[in-house]
Amino acid sequence: MLCEICGEKEATHTCRLCGRRVCDEHYDPATGLCTICSQSLCEICGERLASAYCEICGRYVCYDCSIQVTPAVRVCKECFSKLGWRGVLEELKRRRSGVPRLLPIRLLAARIRRKHT
Ligand SMILES: [Zn+2]
Ligand SMILES: [Zn+2]
Ligand SMILES: [Zn+2]
Ligand SMILES: [Zn+2]
Repeated sequence: MLCEICGEKEATHTCRLCGRRVCDEHYDPATGLCTICSQSLCEICGERLASAYCEICGRYVCYDCSIQVTPAVRVCKECFSKLGWRGVLEELKRRRSGVPRLLPIRLLAARIRRKHT
């Protein structure tokens, strides 16, 4: 049986997530996963496959590491615990509106500094 990723080498391992038979080169012994799965793992827990995209930080996260904030939007649990319900909703509204109404504090500070120098 040949590796299901490259189709060239003998498959010597089985991915514990997708069950693909893969060669040494396409198997990560540390995680027990094929290279395809190890690249699509949740960026928070690193254990499950990512199934959602955090609208705030942009990371790919699994179902357990994300929280549904609106029917169409999920955010990762780290952003959620950092910002809370209100913070997350405000952040999403700000992003949706395209041009941010308020400049990030860091940018404002840089502008003020530039004026004085
Ligand atoms: Zn291979
Ligand atoms: Zn796999
Ligand atoms: Zn996760
Ligand atoms: Zn996030």
